Amino acid sequence: MIPFNKPLHMGSEDEYVIQSMRSSKLSGDGEFSKRCQQWFQDYLGGAKTLLTPSCTHALEMAAILIDIKPGDEVIMPSYTFVSTANAFVLRGAKIVFVDIRPDTMNIDESLIEAAITDRTRAIVPVHYAGVACEMDIIMQIANKHDLFVIEDAAQAMMSRYKGTPLGSIGHFGAFSFHETKNYTSGGEGGLLIINDSAFAERAEIIREKGTNRSQFFRGMVDKYSWVDVGSSYLPCDLQAAYLWGQLLSAEKVNECRLSIWQEYRSSLQELVGAGHIEVSRQVKECAHNAHIFYIKVENLDVRTKLIEHLLSCGVQSVFHYIPLHSASAGLKFGRFNGVDLYTTVESERLIRLPMWYGMKGFEVSTVVRAIIDFYK
Ligand SMILES: *Cc1c(COP(=O)(O)O)cnc(C)c1O
Repeated sequence: MIPFNKPLHMGSEDEYVIQSMRSSKLSGDGEFSKRCQQWFQDYLGGAKTLLTPSCTHALEMAAILIDIKPGDEVIMPSYTFVSTANAFVLRGAKIVFVDIRPDTMNIDESLIEAAITDRTRAIVPVHYAGVACEMDIIMQIANKHDLFVIEDAAQAMMSRYKGTPLGSIGHFGAFSFHETKNYTSGGEGGLLIINDSAFAERAEIIREKGTNRSQFFRGMVDKYSWVDVGSSYLPCDLQAAYLWGQLLSAEKVNECRLSIWQEYRSSLQELVGAGHIEVSRQVKECAHNAHIFYIKVENLDVRTKLIEHLLSCGVQSVFHYIPLHSASAGLKFGRFNGVDLYTTVESERLIRLPMWYGMKGFEVSTVVRAIIDFYK
């Protein structure tokens, strides 16, 4: 059986995890957390970065930091993971969904302005499959209307927009290190990226249970106490040690994934030419990270049959998000602004193919052959 995903494991993680286990500090912000955060700070052009237990937690922190209050509105695509919405719903926000672009499955930037009201506080672009949203336009709209931009870059570590790393463009960004993502901190994990330094100090406080403990550890205050709202948004240092082993190979992993992605794309051209399927696209201004290779088939019925066919050939493929606005919680906490031209129909056509670091050429060709076989 060719699985859909294999969590990244380079081998070098083992040594660092053991080193961390034997150190005297297992809790958050230990030696490996500091190393990882420094690595991300350098990679992201100087942003303040904080490891979190998940991308979900990083998004929740961003919602607290911008003081989302009941009745505030937050604009995002409906084609995304529940956490993109829940992080803001937890603070009482109403979610305003807008349609996606069929070419990238990302929020359609041309529809954002029509969704803005006097209660709108933030825009949350999601870089689906590690392919960038139109960030120049989104930032222009945000600046014009005085809104925050929080990039859900859960899938986008190592991707760029016009040369700039995704996650470093909005006021905040969030990465995920869940085992299904390109890099993992041992199954679960995330990163909050704070690009507006005005929020750096408060972010540390919120992450440390609403105390100024981080400043205390740096010797900036002589005792620490309760100063703000907060929770426990620190992963333990073992998770950072696992991630550290992967950061050292980040470029190598990215190149490997990109070559698998290219291989899929070129070997499926025949079916594309015959009009049977569409495949993941290259986007001119985005150097993506090959997080997902997807195909789109005619409709939901064909998709169900193809997934079954692939399974019978020993290939595990999966569909992706069920649009949030059509889910029961989505109906309760959100509304869809404008017309759903693409979100539902495009999401019903999409299948993600197996993809992981180290996937072999013969495994890719087995998947491709099974798809070609289906159309014969
Ligand atoms: C994976 C993912 C998340 C959630 O990440 P966790 O680390 O599992 O909390 C959020 N948004 C998007 C777009 C994702 O793909």
